[in-house]
Formats: sequence, C-alpha cells, structure tokens
Amino acid sequence: MSQTEAGLADELRRLVVKRSHDLVTLIDLDGTITYASPSWARMLGWDPAEVVGTPLVDYCHPDDVERGLDAIAAQARGEEIPPIVTRRKTKDGRWLSVESDSTPVYDADGNVTAIIGSAHNVTESVELRGRIDELHALYRVADAVARTTSLDELFGEALDALIDATAADRASLLLYDGAGVMRFQAWRGLSGAYRAATEGHTPWTQDVVDPRPVLIADVADGGLEPELAAVVRREGITALAFVPLVHAGQLLGKFMLYAAGRHDWSDGEIRLCLTIANHLASATVRTRTSAAFRAQREQLETVMRTVDEGILVQGSDGTRVYANDSAARVIGFTSAAELLAADRDDVLERFEILDEHGAPLPAEELPGRAALRGMTAQRLICYRIKATGEQRWSLVRANPIRDESGAVVASVSVIHEITKERRAGERIAFLARASELLNQTLEIDETLAALADLAVPHFAGHVTVDVFHGGVLRCVGARHRESDLTELILELRQTHPPTVHDHPVQRALRTGEPQFVPDVQAEAVAMAHDEQHVEAIRRLGNESGIVVPLIARGRTFGAITFGTVPPQPPFDEADIELATELGRRAAAALDNALLYEEAQERAHAADALQFVDDGVFLVDRDGIVQLWNPAAARAFRVRADRAIGRHVSESIPDWETLAAQTSAARGMQAIPVTVKGDERWLSASAASFSGGTVFAFRDITEQRAIEQLRSDFVSTVSHELRTPLAAIYGAALTLQRDDVRLEDSQRTGLLDVIASEADRLARIVNDILWASRLDSGQMGIAIEKCDAEAIVTQVTHSLRSHAPSKIVLDVDAEPNLPPIAADPDKLRQVLTNLVDNAIKYSPDGGHVYVLVTRSGNRIRFRVQDEGLGIPPTEQARIFEKFFRLDPQLTRGVGGTGLGLYICRELVERMHGRIGVNSDGRSGSTFWVELPVA
Ligand code: ADP
Repeated sequence: MSQTEAGLADELRRLVVKRSHDLVTLIDLDGTITYASPSWARMLGWDPAEVVGTPLVDYCHPDDVERGLDAIAAQARGEEIPPIVTRRKTKDGRWLSVESDSTPVYDADGNVTAIIGSAHNVTESVELRGRIDELHALYRVADAVARTTSLDELFGEALDALIDATAADRASLLLYDGAGVMRFQAWRGLSGAYRAATEGHTPWTQDVVDPRPVLIADVADGGLEPELAAVVRREGITALAFVPLVHAGQLLGKFMLYAAGRHDWSDGEIRLCLTIANHLASATVRTRTSAAFRAQREQLETVMRTVDEGILVQGSDGTRVYANDSAARVIGFTSAAELLAADRDDVLERFEILDEHGAPLPAEELPGRAALRGMTAQRLICYRIKATGEQRWSLVRANPIRDESGAVVASVSVIHEITKERRAGERIAFLARASELLNQTLEIDETLAALADLAVPHFAGHVTVDVFHGGVLRCVGARHRESDLTELILELRQTHPPTVHDHPVQRALRTGEPQFVPDVQAEAVAMAHDEQHVEAIRRLGNESGIVVPLIARGRTFGAITFGTVPPQPPFDEADIELATELGRRAAAALDNALLYEEAQERAHAADALQFVDDGVFLVDRDGIVQLWNPAAARAFRVRADRAIGRHVSESIPDWETLAAQTSAARGMQAIPVTVKGDERWLSASAASFSGGTVFAFRDITEQRAIEQLRSDFVSTVSHELRTPLAAIYGAALTLQRDDVRLEDSQRTGLLDVIASEADRLARIVNDILWASRLDSGQMGIAIEKCDAEAIVTQVTHSLRSHAPSKIVLDVDAEPNLPPIAADPDKLRQVLTNLVDNAIKYSPDGGHVYVLVTRSGNRIRFRVQDEGLGIPPTEQARIFEKFFRLDPQLTRGVGGTGLGLYICRELVERMHGRIGVNSDGRSGSTFWVELPVA
C-alpha cells in the first residue's frame, strides 16, 4: 500500500471508527485503555478522553471481570477468541450488555503490542434471552405442577428450572415442618454436612408479614452470622439468595439459590424465583391438601370398614349415599355393597322397624330422617328381620351435614348395635322377674305355672313344666304362644307323657344335664309314643328345644322344657345358659317350697316336742345339736339356748357312750349316763335321717330305782320271811306230830322258837310297814319334850333281855341333860334299830355302849359296838332302803335293809341328823343328834 493509500486508509478507518455505533477500544497488554472511540460517550456516557489511561476492567461488571481478563490474556498470547458478552458500566451507573469482538495488534516483528476491540450493545437481546429463559423456566415449573403428583418431583423440577434460568449453580427448597422448623425438601448440589449445618436457618420468623428476599452477592460482604458464613464458604458458595415461599399471606418456606462465584442477584432472577415460589406454594398447599384429603379418605374408609358401629350417610332426599358393612349387617345385608345396590323398597320390605317398646316406627321418625330435617336425633330402634324373625337392637344417632349456606345436604347415622346387650339385659330382667316370681310363693305348682306364663313369649314359644308327684312325673304347667296349643300340650302330657327313653325330658332327668335339641321336628319320631304323638309334635311346631332338669341338693324334682316356635329364631348357646340358670332357680324354689312344707310339719312337731315329757334332741351330721326340747333340758340340766348350735358332747359328757349304746340297742334301752355327777338312767332310742339323728329318751332313773326297790323288796322280804317262817313251821310241825314224844323242855324250846321267830316276823313286817308308811307320807310325827335318858334306858333294858350272853350292853348319860324335842315313839324306834344292829352285827359278842351327851343345843346319842364294822365306801349307802352289806361282810346276819332307812327318815323328820363312823374293821359308832327342846 502507498503512503497516500495508507493515509487514506487511516483516515477512512478513523472516520469509520468515529462514526461507528460500536465501542471501539484499544488497550495495551496490561488492559489500560489507550484509545476509546466517540461511541463511548454516546453509548456509555463516558468522555473518551477520561477513559484513556484507565483500566478497561473498571468499566466491567464485577461478575465479568474474570472472563474479561482471561480474554485479554489469551489475546496477548496471540490467540484468537470468539466474541464474548460482558456488561459495561454506564456513567450513570447502569449496566449494558455488550458483545465484544477483539483482536491482537502485532508490530513489525510479529509481537502483540495491543488489543483492539469493538463492542456493540446487546443489552436488549440479552434481556430478551433472559426473559425467554425465565419463561422457559416458568413453563417447566407450571408443566411440572400440572403433571406431577408428587411434591418431591415438582420441587426437583423447580430447582432445575431455577438453576437453568439464573446464575445459581445450586439451589434448594426448604419448607416449615409441623414443628415450625424449616427443613430441606429438595436440593441440588448440596452436601449432607451443609444441609445439616444450615437446616432450620431462616432470615424470617414464621409469622412474618410480607417477607422480602434476602440477597447476598458475596458472603464476604457480611450479613450472615460468622458460623453460618463459614459453613457457606466451606461448601464453596460465595453468593446466595433467600427467596420466601408465601401462600395466602403465610410463609411456607424458602428457595435458596447459590453461586460459587460472587453474584449480584438480578431483579429478573429474583422475580423468576418469586414467581416459581408462588407457583410452588399454591401447588404445595393444593397437593398437600389433596394428599391429606386422600389420606383422610383412605383412613376414613378403613375406619368405616373396621368400626363395629354402622355408618349410614343419606342424601337430602333420603337416598343412601354411603354405608359401611356394619350398617348393612344391622338390617340383614351381608355387605355395604349389597345394601347400596339394593332397591329402596326392597330394603324396607326386608325388615320392620320397631321402637323401644316394640311398636312399629314410621320411617320419618328414624334419626337419619330427623337429621335431614336439621335435628340431631338419637333413639333405640329394633330392626326385625322379616325373613328370620330375628330382632336386632340398635342405638341410632344421626347428625345433619350442612353446606356453607347452612342447608342440610345429608345426614350421617351412627348405628350402634346393642342386640347382645339388649338380649343380655332382657335375659337378666327375665331371670330377675323369674326369681322374683319363684320366690314369691311357696305354692310349688302355682309358682311353676307362673314361670311358664313368664317365659312365653319373651323367652320361648312354649314351655312345659313336669314335676314328680309321688314318684310319677306330672305336668304342672304349660304354655304355648298360641293358647289353643297350650291345651294340646296339656292333653298330650296326659295321653302321651314324656316317658319314652329317648325323650329329651327323660334324658335330662337321667343325666341331670340340660338337653339341647336343635331340631325337634327331626327327633319327633324318636321321642313319640306313636304316630298320633308324632302328629301332635308336628302341630306344636317348635323348632329348637331345651330341657333343663330341676335339681336341688342332689334331688331331681322334674324338668322344664322350653321350645322355640318360628319365626322366633332357634335357641343358641346363650339361651341354653339362661334356661339352665332358670332351671337352677326353679329347682331351688321347688326345694325351698318342699323344705317349707316339711318345715311346717316339723314346726308342728317341734311345737309338740315342747310339751312331751320325753327328752328329744336332734344332732346333725356334724354332731351339732339342732333341736333340744325342754325335757332334754331338764334331763341333762342344760338349757336349750346353751345346747342348740353346739356340739352335743358339750351338753352330754357321756355322749360317746350314749350314742354307741343307743345305736347298738334295738328300741328303747336303759342306758346309764352321768349328769353333773349324778347317775341317771335313760331309756333312749335313735332314728337317723339324711340330716342327722333324732334321739328320744325318757329319764327312768326314778322308775328304775323303784323297780329296783321292788325287786330288792321282793327278794329281801321273801328271803327274810322264809327263814323265820321255816323255823316256826318246823317247830309247829314237830309239836303237832303224834309219833314223836316231846319232852316238856323240848316243847318249851320249840314254842320259844315259834315265839322268837314270830317276833322276828313281826319286826320284819313292822319294818315294812314303817317303811311303807314313811314312803306314802302316812307317818305322823308328834314332837314333844322328851327325856332322852329315860328313853335310852327303856330301850336298852328291853333289848338287853333278848341279847346274847356274849354281848355287854351299857348305857351312860350325861347328868342334867335337858329334854329334847322329839317324837318319843319314833326316837325309841330309832334307838331300838341302832342298838339291835349293834348287837346283831357283833356276832362274836362284845361291848355295846350307848352314850347320851349334850352338844350345844343338841343331844347326841351314840351307839358304839365292837362288831363287824362298815367299810367307809359303803357308809353312805347303808341308809338307803333295802341296802345291805355284802353277806360275806355280815357273816350271814339277816335283815331287810330297811332299819337304817327308817332311822334316817325318822331322824330327819324330827329335824335331827344321823351318821356312822367306822374304819370297817373294829366296830362302828352310829350317832343321832336331836335338838334340845
Ligand atoms: P338290816 O335289816 O339288814 O339290819 P339295816 O338297815 O338295819 O338293815 O342295816 C343295813 C345294813 O347295814 C346291814 O345289813 C348291815 O350290813 C349294816 N349294819 C347296820 N348296822 C351295823 C353295825 N352296827 N355294824 C355293822 N354293820 C351294820
């Protein structure tokens, strides 16, 4: 090129540069501007003169500086680079995007000496592109919102869109959890450690109103707490933006944008972020709501399916909108689906609706219908399923459901089935009523007939009660739901009693166990006597039957038969229990009634026992006295209240002996027992029964004594009379004999024998007479002042004459004895007896000494001998009537045993005392004391 050409070309170039809209800039290799075209002023407002000499990076956006410097460095090395878009600062502080195309300038040696670049304003197109990115991002998010059902997916999509459309290289989404803590829901490019360290951090409080985004271009610029800033830096994050997620004025969470390098978050970025946030917030709420709704619905369905309570929802016109299985079952459907599919009239046809009293209930009065009229209603309803006659009881509670305007749109009925409870309740009530009835009267047949009345129709379709009377089973009551069939049962029991071996009544009686017959008709032939009987059973038409035996305390009284008659449902397990219980109670009532009857009889008997002279007492199996009549009380000297309820041995110490001897004995037997130290003789008999033993006895102590006396008397008297009579008889016969010649002395001797033996006979007879008179109370006593010494002298005088020669009889009386108060004849008799005995029982002879002394205001007579003596053990008894010592001890001395008895009786009647002292060997001393007159 020539100089001129070169000059022209320069000029041209200058003009082009000058006129160019592009920024033409020449920089040296360290980036200092060496030339700036006039467009610097037009486009950026900078005077080219003021920028020359300043570094180009001063006019670069900080975010772009790095790229700018990289480009300069590359070109300084002579590399060609593609155009780059950076931002250039205007003098008034705005940023314009410029696309620069630059190229190195070489010197003659081929070295790069400078870089020349031209840049044109691409701000609009950059912004436009930004907008398009933004829009694209928004579309993506909107599409995701529409398309995805899961929030996680949606969140992920939003984050990806944000990363694509903004300068963020990482992003996250955090939402408040139920506890008010903001937690990561979705993230891109964040470490677990970072998430853990920053979770929960938020620049706003949850209740903040209109939260603003918080933008941090560089954590180094501050604004974050030092620890948090450190965490952020460690994660390689320089810039970050907190963008609130708000829905309906409520802060739900935040978006976080992160950039590795410093970044001034632009309005566009934040706007996009907010827009997406907005979308997400509503989507989140909507998704959450619908998820919750779905979850709730599922939950509800599960609950509905599983709850025992029936749930029925009716629309405002009464149609069934929803029902669960339980609701369906209550009214006889197997499932909710079946119920909902069924025709409405069909449903109503299936069952009858009854109120709590069993009266038909109009449909309008059902709680569900009432709820449709706006009322909350509850009532007890009985659904009687027509097909089976089964009754189901429910407590139905219904509530209206209203729309926003308050109009009732549906009703919800909650059906709580209480059939079981109701039946249980009915059973309890029935049992209670039955018990009451059974206990009301003790008239057995009446009671059972009433029971039959009660059981039909509440419990059974028919009832029959059979009770043993005198060993024969008789029907005492029967009821059938249909009264004319009651007659049939009664008639049938007469003509065809339940005596067939296989009849359930017989089985129940035999086994003592309740009998359940699920299908009576099927067993009709087995239990019938004949064809006619079978026919009658068919007519009675019962389906199931229960026979319970009436047993109490091991005794079978009879049986009750219960039967169901369709449409009543057949008996079930619970019915058997009820029937059994009823049987138990009826049996107990029967037992009571029978016991009462017996007790009545026994009571009369017990009344009579009060007056009988025989002792009667009842001892139960445990030996406890249950009955103790007054005669028993007298005999054992134990009052009834002390004896009854205690063991018999407490009242009768000799119980063992008595019981043993009584049971061993046949009929009445005299048994000795000791009563408070006395020997008593009882004639006792015993009769055992299931409850114990009844003892009846008579106290025969006195009677026995008399009998003993009588026999003693007879033996003694006959013996005692025989001896003198034999002597007299012998002497008289001898005297009578002609063939024997008797000497006078012999004749006199024989006559003496007759005289003395007659005297002895007279004395014996006398003794008997005295004793008899004493016993019969005919002995008169005439007490007077007597001279004791004179009487003693008189008695000893007469006895001395008869006494054997070996006997020396002496009398000694204290001088000046006062007179005594006595009957002189009786005193003479007493002393005679004593002195006579003293002589009699001194067979070897000896000294008999009679002494009279005064002792205080009594006179004491003592008759002392040296005879046989009386053993101390026998001394008490010698005064008893007819008592005599053993003949060995008396050496055959005869006597009646009446003398001392007479003595004692007489002395006592004269207010005196009598006794004996003897050691049993060397004589005896009898003493008598009588009062001084
Ligand atoms: P009896 O007619 O037998 O003498 P008592 O009543 O007078 O009847 O006497 C009863 C019994 O007492 C006599 O059988 C005798 O065994 C005994 N007895 C009475 N007196 C005496 C006596 N002095 N010495 C010994 N035994 C006597």
